[in-house]
Amino acid sequence: MVYHITDECIACGQCQPECPVDCITEGDIYNIDQEACIGCGNCGDVCPTGAAIPME
Ligand code: SF4
Ligand code: SF4
Repeated sequence: MVYHITDECIACGQCQPECPVDCITEGDIYNIDQEACIGCGNCGDVCPTGAAIPME
């Protein structure tokens, strides 16, 4: 399942180095490239605010 980042993101950057396909880009809110995400869940596991979650 593809992940995305909600507006709960505080731009802490913890998710980015955990992504095995390097599909997270930084910004005021971080962004996941949904074409590249393989749904491993690493970003969600490390996110302190619960912002990185599977798409509905
Ligand atoms: Fe990267 Fe995995 Fe998060 Fe997708 S679910 S953005 S592949 S860390
Ligand atoms: Fe945003 Fe969570 Fe990633 Fe931190 S770990 S940049 S709060 S999505």
